Amino acid sequence: MEKVVILGTGIAGLTAAIYTARANLSPLVISGNEDGGQLTLTTDVENFPGFPDGIQGPELITITKKQAARFGARFKIDFVTGITKSNHHFKLLLSGETIITESIIITTGASARWLGIPSEEKYKGRGVTTCATCDGAFFKNKEVVVIGGGDSAMEESQFLTKFATKVTVIHRKDSFKASKIMQNRFFKNKKCAVIWDSEVQEIIGDGKKVTAVKIKNLNTGKMTAVKTDGVFLAIGHIPNTSFLSGLVDVDSQGYIKTDRFTKTNVPGIFAAGDVQDTRYRQAITAAGSGCQAAMEVEKYLAEKE
Ligand code: NDP
Repeated sequence: MEKVVILGTGIAGLTAAIYTARANLSPLVISGNEDGGQLTLTTDVENFPGFPDGIQGPELITITKKQAARFGARFKIDFVTGITKSNHHFKLLLSGETIITESIIITTGASARWLGIPSEEKYKGRGVTTCATCDGAFFKNKEVVVIGGGDSAMEESQFLTKFATKVTVIHRKDSFKASKIMQNRFFKNKKCAVIWDSEVQEIIGDGKKVTAVKIKNLNTGKMTAVKTDGVFLAIGHIPNTSFLSGLVDVDSQGYIKTDRFTKTNVPGIFAAGDVQDTRYRQAITAAGSGCQAAMEVEKYLAEKE
């Protein structure tokens, strides 16, 4: 029987792993489908304390994982498909085995949201993507559009200007919700442009690759085709909680409900990071809540004995 199993290897899960490992709980950390979480899909992280010159997202994950392993955290590449609860323990169903544990920290994060239009499905991987860091280099000397108005849209646009000749953000409102510093960089960059108040209705292509997007102006209803080689989606994320199948309380959007001590409604199950955070969603707040969850698990197990 495991003492604690951590689901997810993003910064929240890894921080929980460091703390539970240092508490001699020998945590087992299950990677999930997106090993390393969202930081592995980003470039410069400039606001994580302790790195005055910034750090690359994937590097931050690599060194934090190493730090957790140093204290005895064990890692497993697999994903959980379901959890069942017995009197004093939980059964985790993985792809090929079952693990029994006294406690669980869920840090499964959130995955990129898609537009949900049929033509998007057709051109996924053929010009439509949710990851500028992964796919940006394919668009050297091409024109691309980015959909969204948050920090991700700003960051991805900035990154894409390294390759593309022009980056046009299409946003459904007439102002961005992104932080001022990110907006300033965007507006200063001569390769960046914006189309306001518009929604993508259809991705147009030649069957093999994207050639344009059909957009609708939400004020006038006018439809226009915007020529583009690539479509980068930066429209937020959806929490990865479907595997819980009602065991743990979630809100209307699927985010796990926790109290201010990272406790869920099920004693012994804790949640940290983006999977339970609808407000801050920063690397540092995810790490902080991972630490909290680990300390709560330690207390929970001590009280149980
Ligand atoms: P956000 O939820 O902040 O923004 C999503 C954007 O997409 C919004 O502008 C939203 O529009 C738009 N949107 C949502 N759904 C649709 C849709 N179906 N069609 C069209 N547009 C849509 O997500 P982000 O990923 O940008 O950021 C998430 C968190 O991560 C934030 O807290 C952010 O601060 C943080 N972050 C920080 C970074 C940094 O500091 N370096 C970098 C990247 C992210 P609307 O405005 O109308 O709601």
